Amino acid sequence: MNFELTEEQLMIQQTAREFAQEKIAPSAVERDLKEEFPHDIIKELGELGFMGMMVSPDWGGAGLDTVSYVLAMSEISKVDASVGVIMSVNNSLVCWGLEHYGSDFIKDKYLRPLALGEKLGAFALSEPEAGSDATNQHTEAVRDGDHWSINGIKNWITNGKTADYYLVMAQTNRELRHKGITTFLVEKGTPGFDQAKKEDKLGIRSSDTCSLTFNDARVPHENIVWEEGKGFNFAMKTLNGGRIGIAAQALGIAEASLEAAVNYSKTRKAFGTEIKNHQAIQFKLADMAVQVEAAKLLILEAAALKDAGKDYTKQAAMAKLYASKAAVDCALEAIQIHGGYGYVREYLVERYLRDAKITEIYEGTSEIQRVVIARELLK
Ligand SMILES: Cc1cc2nc3c(=O)[nH]c(=O)nc-3n(C[C@H](O)[C@H](O)[C@H](O)COP(=O)(O)OP(=O)(O)OC[C@H]3O[C@@H](n4cnc5c(N)ncnc54)[C@H](O)[C@@H]3O)c2cc1C
Repeated sequence: MNFELTEEQLMIQQTAREFAQEKIAPSAVERDLKEEFPHDIIKELGELGFMGMMVSPDWGGAGLDTVSYVLAMSEISKVDASVGVIMSVNNSLVCWGLEHYGSDFIKDKYLRPLALGEKLGAFALSEPEAGSDATNQHTEAVRDGDHWSINGIKNWITNGKTADYYLVMAQTNRELRHKGITTFLVEKGTPGFDQAKKEDKLGIRSSDTCSLTFNDARVPHENIVWEEGKGFNFAMKTLNGGRIGIAAQALGIAEASLEAAVNYSKTRKAFGTEIKNHQAIQFKLADMAVQVEAAKLLILEAAALKDAGKDYTKQAAMAKLYASKAAVDCALEAIQIHGGYGYVREYLVERYLRDAKITEIYEGTSEIQRVVIARELLK
């Protein structure tokens, strides 16, 4: 496999790097503190083509490959993982799913503005009793003429408050269990559909996460994505690609942690010398660098397989499992290398740890990634 980046991929990486430094970094600390959603930044990312990176230009997207997408995701997340997750959900879960499984009507009406960054999407699978076991959907949709009436609760939904369009998985035939789940595109403002209070989170605090409630929310039949009964399959296929994006988010945090640790070790003195001269610190930096590099290679492999149209289920799960652990490990070590200064907000590394932890939980916990990898190995 050739991992030499093309000129276009390098250009995307550079654009993302510059945008992250110039436009995202200045407000990242304050937005985290105040839990402020980055409205202006998301709008500008849309104008850059970063909200529908892999969508065909026919539907308003940038027509780029997955490798370009992960390069951009990690550069953005290196500076602010909150912006990373907002971008990731819109790109990999919402736009990708709609482009591959939506009708032309749905693509024209909903995908186009989402890919252009004019509208924001959310992906609503999880429920109070359906997290890892996503088959256990309690949200139900019942047909009523040319509409469906949805009732139920979704929780932990990223972009939950801010999104315009929501992909909602609901049971349409309980007897068929997971084969009776259907995906609906629900517009904000639909009577009976509401967003609850924002969650007060440990990390990625500038992104919004909330519950959604459906009380006889009426959705037109034409807003079914793919087909009736294909909702679980739809969710699993989109999450497969989504995991590569979250792995890239984790990589960004790991890289930021390593960079901060290297820089700090060159300036902080202890026992008459910079701490970089103590072998215990050098070994930590070396271990962090290995994790960063290994995560990068796993992510590029998964992305390249996806771009080649090959099966990437196992590699995406491996990339997410490994990169999320690398992010947590690197952030913890970066704090250790900063000593007491690492434990306070004055330095960025405490945020890296708070942001890193979620990458081991959403879009399938680390335990679930192992379940996926083992299933692929044993089939
Ligand atoms: C900030 C945030 C944002 C999120 N965004 C979204 C979103 O946009 N859309 C969405 O649909 N969901 C979203 N989620 C939900 C997320 O995907 C779930 O939290 C996650 O899948 C885990 O589900 P759970 O919380 O119900 O935990 P549970 O499924 O209850 O798991 C609890 C523990 O048991 C373990 N476990 C469960 N089953 C097994 C098993 N078979 N083998 C081994 N261990 C197992 C888990 O790994 C975990 O450690 C988000 C969550 C958070 C916190």
